[in-house]
Amino acid sequence: MEGIIVKGIAGFYYVKTAQGVLECKARGVFRKNNITPMVGDRVSVVSTPEGNVVDEIHERTSELVRPFVANVSQAYVVFALRNPDINFELLNKFIISLEKNGIEPVLVFNKSDLATENEKIQLKELFKGTGYQIHFITAKDGTGLEELLKGLKNQITVLCGPSGAGKSTLLNKLAGSEKMETGIISEKVKRGKHTTRHSELIAVDDALLVDTPGFSTMEMTMEAKELKDYFPEFHAHEGHCRFQGCNHDKEPGCRVKDEVGKTIAVERYNYYVKYYNELLEENKRKW
Ligand code: GDP
Ligand code: ZN
Repeated sequence: MEGIIVKGIAGFYYVKTAQGVLECKARGVFRKNNITPMVGDRVSVVSTPEGNVVDEIHERTSELVRPFVANVSQAYVVFALRNPDINFELLNKFIISLEKNGIEPVLVFNKSDLATENEKIQLKELFKGTGYQIHFITAKDGTGLEELLKGLKNQITVLCGPSGAGKSTLLNKLAGSEKMETGIISEKVKRGKHTTRHSELIAVDDALLVDTPGFSTMEMTMEAKELKDYFPEFHAHEGHCRFQGCNHDKEPGCRVKDEVGKTIAVERYNYYVKYYNELLEENKRKW
């Protein structure tokens, strides 16, 4: 039987299948080969005389460390429009880190009730050419959540963003819709809940949400030349730069630079150049 691990505690894995949530042990062979089943893993379960066993772990599309969850396909990147003000450096860092991990960022700007229309237009301008979905919501009263709920379908989604942005409020609203599934997790496990730091997936219809809001971006290391891959608004133009492998900084004949102020936002490009040069310095120091 096929399913997804939604929780792991003390050697037991809880696998959501078409037949409900099954309590499973992992096959001994995983431990021998140093494979740890992760929450989010797509697995095959077989029933044995000793109970249900996770028999096979399917290939992961992504692997996050904090939170420790596999196969996250998208992140709702939640920032408040105000209280606290948007920290654009942090917002860009989150996006780059997600791109690096192969996870699609969906930009969710909360506390719409505190912002003007003009501010929303400016944010759309900032991310023009990226193709990112942008949502403006008021988590407090539920405004704008229908689209977010629709977007959760058939995905494993993590919420990330700075503290105070409204992630908990949003998670409660999304998971608190009457469609939420409770599962059949045993009493013993429920009591252990507060002593565990493991992630858990919350099932809402066909959607799975990571229960712990949070996503660490801080220990991001990469080669400077890799950075341009994580700015999707560059991709349509970079094939036309004079030099192959152009890093869109000081090279002549750079088509990406030609687009700055047109199809690419100046602030995003300036941030790219700043971070690119920081990475160059960092890469040098390593030698
Ligand atoms: P978290 O740290 O990201 O989990 O943020 P919380 O969900 O704890 O929210 C932080 C604060 O923002 C709380 O006082 C919430 O009541 C408030 N808040 C959340 N959503 C909204 C909103 O849509 N509008 C306004 N004005 N306040 C909100
Ligand atoms: Zn270029």
